[in-house]
Amino acid sequence: MAERLTAVKGMNDILPAGVPRKEKLPDSALWRWFERTVDTVLTRHGYQYLLTPVVEPTALFVRGIGEATDIVEKEMYSWTDSMNGDALTLRPEITAGIVRAMVEHNALYNGPLRVWSLGPVFRHERPQKGRYRQFFQLDVEALGCAGPDVDAELILMVRSLWQALGLVIGQHVRLELNSLGQPEERAAHRGALVSYFEAHADQLDEDSRRRLQSNPLRILDSKNPALQALVEAAPKLFDHLGAESRAHLDSVRAVLDAAGLPYRINPRLVRGLDYYNLTVFEWVTDHLGSQGTVCGGGRYDGLFEQLGGKPTPAIGFGLGIERLLLLLQELALPVPAAAPDAYAVLGEGVALPRVLVLLDVLRTAGVSVLMHAGGKEGPGSMKSQFRRADACGARFALVFGADEVATDQVALKPLRDAAAVQTLLPMSQPDTWAALLRRP
Ligand code: ATP
Ligand code: MG
Repeated sequence: MAERLTAVKGMNDILPAGVPRKEKLPDSALWRWFERTVDTVLTRHGYQYLLTPVVEPTALFVRGIGEATDIVEKEMYSWTDSMNGDALTLRPEITAGIVRAMVEHNALYNGPLRVWSLGPVFRHERPQKGRYRQFFQLDVEALGCAGPDVDAELILMVRSLWQALGLVIGQHVRLELNSLGQPEERAAHRGALVSYFEAHADQLDEDSRRRLQSNPLRILDSKNPALQALVEAAPKLFDHLGAESRAHLDSVRAVLDAAGLPYRINPRLVRGLDYYNLTVFEWVTDHLGSQGTVCGGGRYDGLFEQLGGKPTPAIGFGLGIERLLLLLQELALPVPAAAPDAYAVLGEGVALPRVLVLLDVLRTAGVSVLMHAGGKEGPGSMKSQFRRADACGARFALVFGADEVATDQVALKPLRDAAAVQTLLPMSQPDTWAALLRRP
């Protein structure tokens, strides 16, 4: 036997429900239901779908995300193109690529755009539960809108998504909010921060000491437990915010308050990417251990210019799909079943063309039917076919038995309701069965 190959470490197979697997990961039925729910909620809010490449120029992320970030410093999959020497990178997030595309196509020529995308991103991190090297992000961006109206709308939209997924605010997920102000305010805060950390340089770890000059704000985002007390007592950006930044945050808060959405102002919320200003937020959960952030985002009014575009205000968020679905699984929230309406059981010697044509009519009428596919020798025993029908979760078996077919009939056998009885249906009018079979 040839040697078996396995997936790259930290990159997952998302398998159909019920299929055995090595790791605890969401199944594809849950995944697809999530995608459909997202589609419905976002479309309702006027967001349009868009796709950008998985591979981008390395410079896009170095300039866009910032040199002194975890992602750019140590998490990117980058290489040199062997044909032309271009520096390329597997995208570690989606926002920078979307902004590049908007600038490249002058896509905001006709005004603001609300867009979303969903796809794989890559970060060279240590794999663990909820942290992978390939993971999927839902990415949502409101482009060309200065807010604060759209900031609040975006956050409330996430609440709608949680509600559609069955998540309870406060119990399963909660909102943290902060303002990062404007570059001048950050500069003033930065001065205060550098003085503070310099005075306590002996307590800093290696990463933080390096960032003290390059990007001291990021020290606040450190995950090192030894630094938490020091970080807690550090000067707060919040205290350096000017009147306009405060007013922006107050307007966002006024909407959230009016909508009855509780949140916590977290002055230490700085986000892992450099491009944010004003509103930043995270949705966190206590049910996933240390990988508790399921969704994070904020305003990035400077990014378009940084990437060679015209000044363009914008806000967006990224949501980690695996993490969110792990949460749904952990909570065992009810998810609509993906089982077919009916399983077609075939008697020995029944003419296949007739069966397949009938099933075709049913499917066109909106019924989902799984046909038993036997071997070369025929469909196999009725008993084994009924076993499969039961295992796939279908509500009915549609039995094309030799006796029934001989009298131009098909038997409809309910599989989930012990009290229900089998009925016979005329083969000549399959479109009339559809109403019986379709999920109510
Ligand atoms: P963390 O602090 O957990 O590293 P982050 O700030 O790096 O998260 P973002 O860049 O904001 O994360 O990405 C958006 C979302 O993507 C996160 O909120 C999280 O749900 C998810 N995510 C981030 N990194 C990973 C990963 N390695 N594996 C799976 N999901 C991830
Ligand atoms: Mg990270």
